[in-house]
Amino acid sequence: MFGILDEATPERKDSSPIETTTSNHEPVDFRFLLTQVWGEPRDRKCDAEELAERRDERVRSITRFAFERVPWYGRLMRDAGLIPEDIRTASDLSMLPASGHQHLLSSPQDFLPRGIGTADLVELKTSGSSGVPRTIFHDVEGMIAGWAVKLRERAVREAFIERPQMYRSASLSMEGDSAQRVQDHFRVSAPAVWNLIPKTRRFSTFENPARIVQGLKEWRPDHIFGYGSAVGRLFRHVAETGDEFPLPQVVSFSSDSLSDFERHLIETEFEVPVLGIYGATEAFSIGFECREGAGYHVNQDATYVRVVGANGEDAAPEEPGSVLISNLVNRGTVLLNYRLGDVAALVPGPCVCGRSLPRIRLLEGRDYAWIERPGATAVHPFRLSSALNRLGIERWQIVQPDIDRLIVRVLPTSKQDRASLVNAVRDLVRDVIRTDLEAEVEFPAALDVTSSGKVLSFVSGL
Ligand SMILES: [Zn+2]
Repeated sequence: MFGILDEATPERKDSSPIETTTSNHEPVDFRFLLTQVWGEPRDRKCDAEELAERRDERVRSITRFAFERVPWYGRLMRDAGLIPEDIRTASDLSMLPASGHQHLLSSPQDFLPRGIGTADLVELKTSGSSGVPRTIFHDVEGMIAGWAVKLRERAVREAFIERPQMYRSASLSMEGDSAQRVQDHFRVSAPAVWNLIPKTRRFSTFENPARIVQGLKEWRPDHIFGYGSAVGRLFRHVAETGDEFPLPQVVSFSSDSLSDFERHLIETEFEVPVLGIYGATEAFSIGFECREGAGYHVNQDATYVRVVGANGEDAAPEEPGSVLISNLVNRGTVLLNYRLGDVAALVPGPCVCGRSLPRIRLLEGRDYAWIERPGATAVHPFRLSSALNRLGIERWQIVQPDIDRLIVRVLPTSKQDRASLVNAVRDLVRDVIRTDLEAEVEFPAALDVTSSGKVLSFVSGL
């Protein structure tokens, strides 16, 4: 079953290929997966030069493919006077003008390669929690290559699991989300890959935490993963009510964030290690936390990440900027130098864990959602979020319904005095946003959730 990879890969590599079947696709040669997986420097042995070479080879290959086959990039490169030979390494990708959601939404066909029908690709939709949902097509081989780098985050996780060859997961996410659709696809198109995925029971993020606890008592998962807000809500519920379930050995989260309070609660009070994963429908597994050094390691040989400032130039380490990704393995919807909408900063220096994968620190909020100020430059909400995190509250949400109002919704702990919290939040807003603005502080029973089940840290009504 799953976990056979470590033990079985050498034999499998030498034995006859296992072909996988699919109704819509040519069978995927399992050897392909193995070259991807076996070729992955999966743990700390990852050599920086080898990795850069592998990354740059993929950069050259996808750039040529994009130039020759994908109308958007053919045009973009010709207009910029570029030919594929100009882009030799990942850093050369900065020569390509950046693209973004608005381009993909207005001309989705232009990002698809000529000569490949969408029936031959896997169609996935983004959750649309921060705008109109986007359709991203993936080719099966790219999906497998993208999945293969997930084995790195999996190796980190499985170090905490007693019996990694046999464990159960529980997922707190949306029914039919991209992860589930990819798995469902593998079940048919690449059962050999599907067999490597741990047995998982799914719980909706909209489910009442008490009912999730009931389900977890029955399922007894070794690993819980899901949206940060859903994982946080579950553990807050357990801490508040004393409701119990057999604790997992490790928790991982992605999509929206886990608040500092929630993370601390899970790690300290419940003594369960927490791992953050950075993924997107556009590029599957972008990065993962190793739990030894700060930030997320970037799987840069599958998804190359740049962080750019407002001027579009690469940001200096520790400088917040927009995340631009280049998916080096997907030959469905090709995305190069593509603005994802997230805010991050590069983490300088090598990680204590010894991995050579570069690191980024993810910051709260989206790169297009700013707190506006009359007669002054806008402020990004992350300026406020780190200060709010220091107040020790469970979770918060900032809302700007119009330019002269700022609402901070706070979920305090049961021990916190609300009146002094109101003052503390107002002081912070005066310090960071506007000296003349009196923030409205609310204490709702729960925070607003988007239709896709996520909690946004900042909501702008402007
Ligand atoms: Zn590390």
